[in-house]
Amino acid sequence: MKNFIHIKGLSKHFGDFVAVDKVNLEIGKGELFSILGGSGCGKSTLLRMLAGLEVPTSGSIEIDGTDITRMAPYDRPVNMMFQSYAIFPHMNVARNVGYGLRKDGVGKAEIEKRVDQILELVQLSEYKTRKPDQLSGGQRQRVALARALIKRPKVLLLDEPLAALDKKLRERTQFELMNIQYELGITFIVVTHDQEEAMTLSTRIAVMDKGRFQQVGTPKEVYEFPTNRFVANFIGTINTFEGVVTVVEEDKIQAYCDEAGETLTALGRQLVEVGQTIGVAVRPEKIFVSKERPDNQEDVCIQGVVDDLGYLGNRSLYRIKLGNGRIVQVSSQNRRRSVTRFLEWGDKVWISWTARSAVVLLD
Ligand code: ATP
Repeated sequence: MKNFIHIKGLSKHFGDFVAVDKVNLEIGKGELFSILGGSGCGKSTLLRMLAGLEVPTSGSIEIDGTDITRMAPYDRPVNMMFQSYAIFPHMNVARNVGYGLRKDGVGKAEIEKRVDQILELVQLSEYKTRKPDQLSGGQRQRVALARALIKRPKVLLLDEPLAALDKKLRERTQFELMNIQYELGITFIVVTHDQEEAMTLSTRIAVMDKGRFQQVGTPKEVYEFPTNRFVANFIGTINTFEGVVTVVEEDKIQAYCDEAGETLTALGRQLVEVGQTIGVAVRPEKIFVSKERPDNQEDVCIQGVVDDLGYLGNRSLYRIKLGNGRIVQVSSQNRRRSVTRFLEWGDKVWISWTARSAVVLLD
C-alpha cells in the first residue's frame, strides 16, 4: 500500500510536559487506522495536530505529497468529527449536513444533490427534515459523520466516534462505519480508548502510552505478537510468567519461570541471550484445561486447582491456582450445551499449552 500520510518526529510539549513524543508514522491511502491508548496518553493531541488545531513543537506532517505542518485548519485536506457531535440543534438533518457546503458558497442544487447522496450513504434519507432532538444517539452520530464527510476530505479524523452509544448500538455502528469508509475510500484515523472497537474497525492500530507509540501493527499482530508488556496487557488479558532464559534455539527459547514452577518454552522472534530476564506470556484462550492429564504432548503442562470460575454463556472463565499460589487465567469455549458444569470450585485440573501459543516479552 502506498503511503499517503507521513508523520516524522512529531512532538507536542505543554511547558515541561511532553504530551506527544517524537512520533513517526506512515499511513496508507484508504486505511482505517486507529490510535489506541488510555486516558492522557496523548492520542487526542496527536489528532488535533493533524487537524491543525494544535501547533507541533517539532516534526512534520505530510498528506498526499503536501507538507501541512503549518497549514491553517480550513486549508487542510482533512476534516474532524468530534467527541461531542457538535451538530446544530436548531437545524434539521439536511441543513446540518449541508452546512459546510453552504459556507463555501456551493450552489443550492449541488448542495441538495450531495446532501441526498450522503444521507443515503449513512441511511438517514427518511430523517431529512427531523431536528437533532428527534433522533436517537446513533442517528445523531450518523448526522455528524455525514456532515464531516460531505466536503469529501482526503482524511477524516474521528475522536472517540462511538463513545456516546450503548454497547449494542456501538457494535452495529462500527460495522456501518467500516462499510461507509470502504465505499468512499477516504482514509480514516480514529482515536479510541476502547480496544475492542480498535480491533474490530481497524486495518492497523498504533498502541500509545505516555506520548509514544509502543507498537504499530494489524489487530492480529498487536494481539498475537505484542512486543512488550504494556501492549500485551493493554490489549486483552494475558498471563505473564517472569523467567530467566536457559536455552536459545533458532526459533524458540526456554526459560525457567519460578512463578510457574517450570521451564517454559516459547517461540522467540526477538533476540535473547541465556541468563536474560524475560516474560513468557500466554493468552487465556490458548490454555487448555482438563481434569485428566492430556495425553497429547503439549509443551507445557502444569497442575492446579480451580480457584474461581465464571460462566459467560458462550465461554467460561477459570482462575487456576498453581501449587505455588500463582493464579493463571483460562478462558474456555462452551461447545456443548449442558446444565451441569464441567468444572467446579476446588477441582484438581491440568492446564496445558503449546510453545507456539506463548510469546516472549522483553520490556
Ligand atoms: P483522553 O482519552 O482522556 O482524552 P488523550 O490520550 O486524548 O486522553 P490528550 O488530550 O492528548 O490525552 O492529552 C495528553 C496529555 O496532555 C494529558 O496529560 C493532558 O493533561 C495534557 N494536555 C492536553 N492539552 C493540554 C494543554 N492545552 N495544556 C497543558 N496540558 C495539556
